[in-house]
Amino acid sequence: MAVDEKLASVYADVLERNPGEHEFHQAVREVLESIGPAVAKHPQYVDAKIVPRICEPERQIIFRVPWEDDDGNIHINRAFRVEFNSALGPFKGGLRFHPSVLLGTIKFLGFEQVFKNALTGLPIGGGKGGSDFDPKGRSDREIMRFCQSFMTELHRHIGEYTDVPAGDTGVGTREVGYLFGQYKRITNRYESGVLTGKGLIYGGAQIRTEATGYGTAVFANEMLLSRGSSLDGKTVTVSGSGNVAIYAMEKARQLGAHVVACSDSSGSIYDKDGIDIELVKELKEVWRARIDQYVATRTKARFEPGAQVWGIPCDVAMPCATQNELTGKDAHRLIKNGCVAVAEGANMPTTPEGVQAFLDAGVAFGPGKAANAGGVATSALEMQQNASRDSWSFRHSQQRLEEIMRGIHARCLETADEYGMPGNYVAGANIAAYTRVADAMLALGLI
Ligand code: NDP
Repeated sequence: MAVDEKLASVYADVLERNPGEHEFHQAVREVLESIGPAVAKHPQYVDAKIVPRICEPERQIIFRVPWEDDDGNIHINRAFRVEFNSALGPFKGGLRFHPSVLLGTIKFLGFEQVFKNALTGLPIGGGKGGSDFDPKGRSDREIMRFCQSFMTELHRHIGEYTDVPAGDTGVGTREVGYLFGQYKRITNRYESGVLTGKGLIYGGAQIRTEATGYGTAVFANEMLLSRGSSLDGKTVTVSGSGNVAIYAMEKARQLGAHVVACSDSSGSIYDKDGIDIELVKELKEVWRARIDQYVATRTKARFEPGAQVWGIPCDVAMPCATQNELTGKDAHRLIKNGCVAVAEGANMPTTPEGVQAFLDAGVAFGPGKAANAGGVATSALEMQQNASRDSWSFRHSQQRLEEIMRGIHARCLETADEYGMPGNYVAGANIAAYTRVADAMLALGLI
């Protein structure tokens, strides 16, 4: 698709003012390609320069994180917090610790987050943060020292009414615990609502750990239901074996699907009898092992070093690892093998060529900002519980998550219908989110 004529100069500006940030360009382009009809329908957005303002973060923070390893060696990492848009509420979005993290990575994730958060219908703005720190192979104490040093700077920029980080790749409950501990120590405040994804005993919310993956599978099921089918009896493949992947597999199985493959950055496993999700959980969450260890226990399963899961025939694919992991070529392979639905658990895992291939083939394609919004939605519920010093049951939290996912699904479909693109979840998600943020920005004046 092409960027609408009226928006072409905005996109040219983004390219010029953010050189080399390819993932950020890609995320902006994908949104600009979709929102042309909404911009045409609402000239007041053009007058107020809403689109160029949306493409520029409100604030970008870059800082140094010095820390010492167990042998006394000093390391220096670089960290970021991009506070993208707070028209709908405090900045909200996770922290990623991965060696590939650059400012452009965080900007792309922050930009996506603005739209995702708007789609949930909850009062949260968008932001994202992280560091090029590599947690792999680091001891628990090294992780703690890094998190403490990271928070020693970050604490001055965040707060329950300002900016509320959470986890993402490389940042789970353990890291959030160390970050929260250091925030509490520095500020001398037990401000539970400053971080989400906390452990249950100190202000965390039921189902936050499962929420992104569960929500992704629920979204896949909703897409299938809207086409007269469901996940029940479907063969599913999932990429990754981290937080999102594990719980996407678990919910897919609860909904009757047969999950046969998952992966990590070292390769993929195929288990035709169905992935033993409890074993993957133990390997990844307890032992922090590589995925090839799976076949040591499940000897009939197959491990393919360096391979992705996209060559394995499936009805439904859920990319849950990282950005741009599913290319146009992969998409064509999936379509040829009979894949009828794709729900993105990760952020922007499908390349533009891949997305186009799925749309052209009529595959039900749920973009990440809709399909994986269950995580941040549950984070907003965690903030709500913290604010009222309450804690909800697992059952109630799960009901809320499912309601929110069904709401997002319906909003995408209705908006796509309204703008004459029935069944196009990419357009539906982008337009529905954009109009919500734009209306709030208009109401708040030129700030
Ligand atoms: P985790 O760190 O828990 O797991 C990430 C998984 O993806 C691991 O299996 C990892 O393998 C694999 N992976 C990471 N980078 C690569 C790579 N370059 N190539 C191949 N595999 C890779 O992260 P999450 O599960 O939390 O996040 C996964 C995705 O979901 C990300 O895109 C994230 O932004 C998105 N997301 C996460 C949310 C959350 O609540 N956690 C919310 C919404 C979106 P290995 O261990 O070998 O690196």
